[in-house]
Amino acid sequence: MNIYDFTLNELENYLVSNGFKKFNATQIIEWMYEKGVYDFNKMTNLSKNLISFLCEKFYFGHLEIIEVEKSNLANKYLLELNDHNKIECVLMNHDYGYSLCISSQVGCNMGCAFCESGRLKKVRDLTLSELVLQIITVEKYEKKRITSVVVMGIGEPFDNYNNIKRFIEVVTNNKMIGIGQRHLTISTCGLVPKIYEFADLETGVNLAVSLHAPNNAIRDKIMKINHAYKIEDIMKALDYYIEKTNRRVTIEYIMLDGINDSEECARELSRLVKDKLMYVNIIPYNETSHFELKRSNDFKIKRFYDILKMNNVNVTIRKEMGSNLSAACGQLRANVEGSGK
Ligand code: SF4
Repeated sequence: MNIYDFTLNELENYLVSNGFKKFNATQIIEWMYEKGVYDFNKMTNLSKNLISFLCEKFYFGHLEIIEVEKSNLANKYLLELNDHNKIECVLMNHDYGYSLCISSQVGCNMGCAFCESGRLKKVRDLTLSELVLQIITVEKYEKKRITSVVVMGIGEPFDNYNNIKRFIEVVTNNKMIGIGQRHLTISTCGLVPKIYEFADLETGVNLAVSLHAPNNAIRDKIMKINHAYKIEDIMKALDYYIEKTNRRVTIEYIMLDGINDSEECARELSRLVKDKLMYVNIIPYNETSHFELKRSNDFKIKRFYDILKMNNVNVTIRKEMGSNLSAACGQLRANVEGSGK
């Protein structure tokens, strides 16, 4: 078994059920996550009996970096999993530290019209170890400490909900990855039942929702998920989330030329989010050769932003971190894997 597939709790239970002590799990975790020791024989405070048990049962999994694209503000990594599937993650250099955007699945079934990741259908969910090892692999490679994580790369995190829940435990546990809840963001395209479940966890983890349209007519055209969960269902679920957690929700909005970037769209979006604990993150679209959708021009983006501002909506325009990289999420993997898969 890959030891990174265990939360602290799970490792404790496993060791206890095999006749060892609960605190042995903390000892092992400290060696791995704090001291960076990846050899059970070097964990000097463990008994010989425990070391031979661990050597027999566990291995330290790792991910292979097979390509890195670098720019001033962001580096993009193509990673290979044990079964040769490939995923991506992106390290961004912000004023406040290094932030890593990770993948949650191999491919994605949500089929958003603008997205490279959705073009290559879902192959499988990522395991807990594959989620966690994206952080560890990039930290080791860059010799830098990652201070925040967003689950916004390839895949729909709430379609891999159980592992995301366990991932939150590992990332926010001080003895493990040790990134504060407020520095972890999960981004969903709007799987409504999972938004309720996530709200009920009552963590301090941030939630972002890819809305990308102010009404169902437009959203139906660009996001298949809208056939299952309408905008009003999402807004109701977000009201519940905010009531439960008192956390501000980020509304992601990709600007697509002639689709969702009109002044009327801006006014409609304002009416939707106004007076709610929400803020809108406007994202200039990264065009890819596989889709005909175009990026809104800077004038339209600014006008859209101004209308939201005039309506007292908290809004930012996302800084473009990597337009000279294969910048759309999933694009680097898609380049390697080819089309039509
Ligand atoms: S935008 Fe997100 S949910 Fe939609 S297809 Fe891409 S990865 Fe999946």
